Amino acid sequence: RERLRDRLATLGEMAAAIAHEVKNPLASIEVMAGVLRRQLTDRPEAMETLGDIIKESKMANAIVVEVLEFVRPIRLQVERVALGEVIRDAVTSLDRGAEHVQVQVDGDVPLLLADPNQLRQLFTNLMTNAIEAMDETGQPPRVDVRASLVPEDAEPGSAGRPLPAQVRIEVRDHGPGISEDDLERIFSPFFTTKPKGTGLGLSIVRKVVDAHDGIIDAASAPGRGTTFRVTLPVIPAPDY
Ligand code: ADP
Repeated sequence: RERLRDRLATLGEMAAAIAHEVKNPLASIEVMAGVLRRQLTDRPEAMETLGDIIKESKMANAIVVEVLEFVRPIRLQVERVALGEVIRDAVTSLDRGAEHVQVQVDGDVPLLLADPNQLRQLFTNLMTNAIEAMDETGQPPRVDVRASLVPEDAEPGSAGRPLPAQVRIEVRDHGPGISEDDLERIFSPFFTTKPKGTGLGLSIVRKVVDAHDGIIDAASAPGRGTTFRVTLPVIPAPDY
């Protein structure tokens, strides 16, 4: 296991190094295509091609950013976090579909000791997947996000000790669902069923959840949507 970890770490460093090297030339391509486009306002077909170049470089850059995010070790900047705010920030940062997300945070959900930026990223990724999943259904999309408190001792721990309090956040969509086979692989890096997917969204989600000592699981019934459930520990802080 240790050897595997070493090998993965080396791979990660390599991926990070390549991503860094690719980032600058990509940015130059985008900038130079923009300059050319401004010089060729009288050549609509050239402007269109340059527009495509800019769009594709932006997409390649988004992939590089995702790879970097995936391989970079997480350093949590922990503070007291109001979950409702973080979830609402995640909704506003969505590229599209924000109007289809319904958020409900129960009143008794306490502040968490967590990294708000990492958590925002986590929820953005889950909601983006949920919205993308409903693209082909033809139904009006709807994503339900619900945060609730699982009080201490709700289910006694296996060793007879009470379980500490936890916060549970569910992100539910009404998309096509995930087959049983795929369900086992969705958290693996680079697993994707989307033509333009990177397969890193859920790997990043899991990395963030792990860094917070949380748990994530997914339940899905093909044809009936998918629910991702994130459980985070409530860490008592002295001035809670
Ligand atoms: P990407 O979105 O780039 O494919 P992810 O790691 O975010 O990468 O997701 C991996 C795969 O998991 C997706 O390609 C899709 O098959 C599946 N998936 C994730 N979320 C959902 C969802 N809400 N509904 C259906 N399938 C999903």
